[in-house]
Amino acid sequence: MPELPEVETTRRGIEPHLAGRRIATVILRRADLRWPIPREVSELLPGQVIDSVERRAKYLLIHTGVGSAMLHLGMSGMLRVLPPDALIGKHDHVDIVLENTNGQRGRVLRFTDPRRFGSLLWQPFGEVHPLLAALGPEPLTDAFAGDTLWHASRRRSAAVKLFLMDNANVVGVGNIYASEALFAAGIDPRRAAGSVSRVRYAKLAAEVKRILAWAIERGGTTLRDFLNPDGAPGYFFRELNVYGRAGEPCKVCSTPIKQVVLGQRSTFWCPNCQK
Ligand code: ZN
Repeated sequence: MPELPEVETTRRGIEPHLAGRRIATVILRRADLRWPIPREVSELLPGQVIDSVERRAKYLLIHTGVGSAMLHLGMSGMLRVLPPDALIGKHDHVDIVLENTNGQRGRVLRFTDPRRFGSLLWQPFGEVHPLLAALGPEPLTDAFAGDTLWHASRRRSAAVKLFLMDNANVVGVGNIYASEALFAAGIDPRRAAGSVSRVRYAKLAAEVKRILAWAIERGGTTLRDFLNPDGAPGYFFRELNVYGRAGEPCKVCSTPIKQVVLGQRSTFWCPNCQK
């Protein structure tokens, strides 16, 4: 499943090809993906100039003067910028066709999604889509810090890993990144969120930022093949400390890594390094 680093890598890859371009037309080969595609996408976007491409959590927003197309890659979605005559495959559901500077049809932003858990929605200009309204801070901004986690977690009995993966507290920290950040911060993922100290949340927030920033940087150099069949980015998978390593020795202390299911997600930790 594409996580925040892959979505941000995608944004950085497509934005230079989109910003400042006029949309010639929008081709929908299905009426729905995970949800029905709102009619505004095909009715309002043609003729509009793309101002920018923004990422919010794992959504990509293609901003124009009348509103924004809001894309989510779901489990298997992919966005590519292709030549106008690129062959159309079975799972190529949406084309946003761009205009060349001479007014002719130019390159195509193509959304491909074999499993169709992705979505294409519409955010009217000046409004915030309901799916975005309740989201917590972006992890790579100053709005996310140890203190915000510490304040939000007081009297919370939920496991700190689930607290960290809750989009209301911080967006885009998926299962792999939560496991790895908790290992790096030395925090047992099962510990009640409300029992983690302020100092340890500062360390945790710093590790979340470090690991996500690192993954984005690496993803930027391997844009074309960043997903392996396990759903973890290939470059990242080889360097994981705990995720997927149950029974293997901890890279720091050699204690076997443990695994437990928390909130229906596999969780991995070192019982010696994480308290
Ligand atoms: Zn260890």
